[in-house]
Amino acid sequence: MNIDIERSNLVGLGRAELAAVLAEFGAEPFRTRQLWHWIYHRGATDFAVMTNLAKGFRERLAERFILGRPEVAMAQASRDGTRKWLLRFADGQEVETVHIPEEDRGTLCVSSQVGCTLTCRFCHTGTQRLVRNLGAAEIVGQVMLARDALGEWPSPKEDRQLTNIVLMGMGEPLYNFDSVAAAMKIVMDPEGLAISRRKITLSTAGVVPMIARCGSELGVNLAISLHAVRDDVRDVLVPLNKKYKIAELLDACRVYPGSSNARRITFEYVMLKGVNDSPADARELVRLVKGIPAKVNLIPFNPWPGAPYECSSDAAIAAFSDIVFAAGYSAPVRTPRGRDILAACGQLKSASVKARRGERVPETVTV
Ligand code: SAH
Repeated sequence: MNIDIERSNLVGLGRAELAAVLAEFGAEPFRTRQLWHWIYHRGATDFAVMTNLAKGFRERLAERFILGRPEVAMAQASRDGTRKWLLRFADGQEVETVHIPEEDRGTLCVSSQVGCTLTCRFCHTGTQRLVRNLGAAEIVGQVMLARDALGEWPSPKEDRQLTNIVLMGMGEPLYNFDSVAAAMKIVMDPEGLAISRRKITLSTAGVVPMIARCGSELGVNLAISLHAVRDDVRDVLVPLNKKYKIAELLDACRVYPGSSNARRITFEYVMLKGVNDSPADARELVRLVKGIPAKVNLIPFNPWPGAPYECSSDAAIAAFSDIVFAAGYSAPVRTPRGRDILAACGQLKSASVKARRGERVPETVTV
């Protein structure tokens, strides 16, 4: 966020918090709705544009508050249209946010923590030590910044470039649930950013005790980073599995509020050569998710320097997908997007830090 020692940021406050701050400031209650509209529907970054507020009131607001955004430390665009922003917060910590345009939608991949504590063996972000949780303002700030960059204010009703949000960036969102929830409530508010809970997907490595709350308090779509069908394999790939076993994780999915055949739980499965990609693994996956409204997302492993794994062959991925598909589940292979700017799954942050230190990186277009 913009560094301003005198003035505080209104972006990131929920409705009740905004009302409380404005009440303390001496503003009438109806001002909350007006400000909310300007901040989250119109994307105002300056009080001066709020023409339905008296000039004197705008000036007083500007003396006391800001409408801040995260600072963009680096912006890149991939040849495939994917965009990535390295954002720097007031304390110098950084995270990445990625926008992935598709024919019929545009997805923003949002980070929830600086770094990650989970140390999944195949994930580059996991090699960084966690520095800290993001606050609600820093999470909402990623969405606001993307809207700024896409020129998408006021919040359009249709033909949006930013239609969906996935909490699949850096960090484990269920280890920072309070801030993630506060941020998503702001994002979902129909009088603001207005991105429906049906268009938001939270991805977790399996923090079982938090899954029910995620469903009841937010009602967003759930994605599970499963990646293995046996506990001994998953213990190595996703060490959190030592705490919450596959059976327990799937039980939490079975009772996830709001899931149905129309709103399926996504099981993400990274394809690692010779580790988890056999036809027997595929059959076991089908057996495990039986009874859960599920879809499977196969993710070709994105390599990074020093990674202890290789991506499965195209033939192995196709065979795996066919088995899952034949059992009645959709099993698309996720096309890696933005690999040339290190924006693909598991490539975030540590890579761009290396890039700035002058190590060799693929050609990029800086925008
Ligand atoms: N901590 C949460 C949110 C991160 S989501 C979670 O684990 O779900 C990021 C997704 O990318 C996860 O499914 C993760 O397992 C996957 N991923 C991480 N590293 C990857 C890599 N090198 N190649 C492909 N997918 C990867």
